[in-house]
Amino acid sequence: MLIVQKYGGTSLMDTDRVRVAAQRAVDAVKAGDRIVVVVSAQGKTTDQMVNNAREITDSLSAREMDAYLASGEQMSASLMVMMLHSLGQKAVSLTGWQAGLLTDSVHGNARVKGLTNDRIRKELDEGNIVVVAGFQGINEAGDITTLGRGGSDTTAVALAALLGADLCRIYTDVDGVYDKDPRKFPDAVRFDRISYRDMLVLAQSGAQVLHDRSVELAMQYRVPVQVLSSFRPGPGTMVID
Ligand code: ADP
Ligand code: ASP
Ligand code: MG
Repeated sequence: MLIVQKYGGTSLMDTDRVRVAAQRAVDAVKAGDRIVVVVSAQGKTTDQMVNNAREITDSLSAREMDAYLASGEQMSASLMVMMLHSLGQKAVSLTGWQAGLLTDSVHGNARVKGLTNDRIRKELDEGNIVVVAGFQGINEAGDITTLGRGGSDTTAVALAALLGADLCRIYTDVDGVYDKDPRKFPDAVRFDRISYRDMLVLAQSGAQVLHDRSVELAMQYRVPVQVLSSFRPGPGTMVID
């Protein structure tokens, strides 16, 4: 199977967590799957970067902001690959533009339009785990764009859709999708499965667990999405028809 695994900021917070994520990807390869990993920036890196930039001025250049913020995910991607190498696994990191992820030109909230090259496929064919920096793409003018806060989920689902992957696994800090935020409401109930439509309503009403555009894409391309914990084993939630 071709599987996209996505790791969010908390799941990559420190070296130990990067190792756990990398080992999971290696185990999947050993089990016979082809793996594309999509990574977010580590921990609260993006928030810190936003604050740094705002210390300069309130009227920031959207183009430069995207170029700046995209670097958080790039750091994660190359760190993850160095970890994979240390585990004896062939792997290569790609930025959004190296991967050919074309977007429109709305800086800070760009939409994915397609893939312009077959680099990911070529690297997979060479036996690599391909680690793609989430949250970013390139527009037709050749400028770096970002997909909106939480947008690495959208990178993962978009790549799963455009590569024809069998499954997109979103590894995060909760063990699935709940009817309300389980961190705020101890009585929240986890779904074993949820339809694309119901998930879209949840995401659009602010359930951060999946970026709303990732759900739109999953619904459009019929990508099965599994949301599960980075830290605990368990089936998580299937987002599916
Ligand atoms: P990541 O860094 O992995 O992308 P996020 O912080 O973006 O993780 O999303 C996971 C968080 O979403 C959880 O920690 C949880 O507090 C929050 N959340 C909000 N609503 C829900 C919900 N309905 N189900 C699960 N998690 C939710
Ligand atoms: N790093 C970006 C953010 O914090 C994208 C993501 O984590 O999905 O919004
Ligand atoms: Mg997120």
